[in-house]
Amino acid sequence: MASYDVVIIGSGLVGASTANALMRAGAGRVLLLDRGNAGGGDSALTFGMVRRHYTNPVLIQLSMAGTDILARWDEEVGVGTGGYVPTGYLLPVPERLLDACRGNVERQQSLGLETRLLTPDQIHAVEPLLSLDGVAAAAYEPMGGVCDSRLMIDSWILDALGRGLELRQHAQVAELTMSNGRATGVVLADGERIEAGQVVVASGGWSPEVLRGIWDVPFNLVRIQVAVLRLPPGQIAPAAVTSDAVSNVVVRSAAGRDIWVVAYQPDTPVINARDDCQLPLLDGYEAAIRAPLSERFPTLADTPLVGGWGGAYDATPDWHPLVGRVPETEGLWLCAGWSGHGLKSTPAIGRVMAQMLTGETPFIDVTDLDPDRFARGFENPCAYGPGARA
Ligand SMILES: Cc1cc2nc3c(=O)[nH]c(=O)nc-3n(C[C@H](O)[C@H](O)[C@H](O)COP(=O)(O)OP(=O)(O)OC[C@H]3O[C@@H](n4cnc5c(N)ncnc54)[C@H](O)[C@@H]3O)c2cc1C
Repeated sequence: MASYDVVIIGSGLVGASTANALMRAGAGRVLLLDRGNAGGGDSALTFGMVRRHYTNPVLIQLSMAGTDILARWDEEVGVGTGGYVPTGYLLPVPERLLDACRGNVERQQSLGLETRLLTPDQIHAVEPLLSLDGVAAAAYEPMGGVCDSRLMIDSWILDALGRGLELRQHAQVAELTMSNGRATGVVLADGERIEAGQVVVASGGWSPEVLRGIWDVPFNLVRIQVAVLRLPPGQIAPAAVTSDAVSNVVVRSAAGRDIWVVAYQPDTPVINARDDCQLPLLDGYEAAIRAPLSERFPTLADTPLVGGWGGAYDATPDWHPLVGRVPETEGLWLCAGWSGHGLKSTPAIGRVMAQMLTGETPFIDVTDLDPDRFARGFENPCAYGPGARA
């Protein structure tokens, strides 16, 4: 039977970053497993937005440290690129959310983030296309922007393979093996048994299936869709990445003349299992983006739709991830439930995971993300209420 010090289930942003950090930490023999192609889960579907605008120190610090690694990819990873481009990030808010936004910006500033609150007359210098109707102010991060999850995953895996990582794609974990509450390995769908000193569940929206019978993972799967619009030649594209808390539309420029648009829909249906989430846009989604788009970006309102895709947020009750030991087990770790925030934090969370697995103190305190927190009655507060915003 093959035997490893660590087996990681899932090679998305979380699994690939953790594998890379473990190899760099000299954590022994590490096996990274994926039931499909590496990075083919929700990490392949992100909107690519980099921002640090969060309510609580733990997510502010993780996203700050992650963005710092993205900005210094050559020194920190040395292979490939994270595709980071600091276009600037804007969060316009209505009057009713102004105090919450100001509080967040002040908290972020106190943690060392370059961010400020712009008055409406200052916003056009950053994003001239924005209509200011209903906008009381906007949080602004000059170093917010975009990055590329596929490039990040490829780079981490390439670097880690050079350091001895073993990667097996199309190797689905069918079962975790446990002995007296301790993880001892995995059984693959073809019946092969693999022994492990420690097991990391980095299976994103599939984590409830992976942990079935061991622990009930507390998250819902919420469909999230990205529409692709194509600007006609000569039309000006948005400069910054904008997440509008007034109309609930999120907009960025992408490759060529494309812009990507997300509409946060309050009545998004919950999905029962991650495999039930289809890739194409659902009927009616174009209508859902048109109204908020014309409200916030009037010049983009009629830009033709050319495509899009849908994925799932693995949304926990407080919209914060589950990071740490699976309750009442030994040697079994979980890093999932990122609730739509995973992308820019994963360069940092891989290192945190590696430190926890090797018995070191994590460089960022992630106690508030303990998977057991809901059972203990603790929920992380969100300044704008539970949701993907902050
Ligand atoms: C449409 C969309 C837009 C988003 N936009 C942003 C954004 O702009 N900014 C941001 O910060 N975050 C964003 N996110 C969130 C971010 O993409 C996720 O938080 C992140 O990708 C989660 O990574 P992961 O590694 O946990 O999961 P995944 O990438 O889903 O990886 C899990 C992996 O586990 C594998 N797996 C599952 N079951 C098994 C098994 N039994 N055996 C072996 N392997 C298995 C899967 O094949 C998959 O590759 C977005 C998400 C979506 C869906």
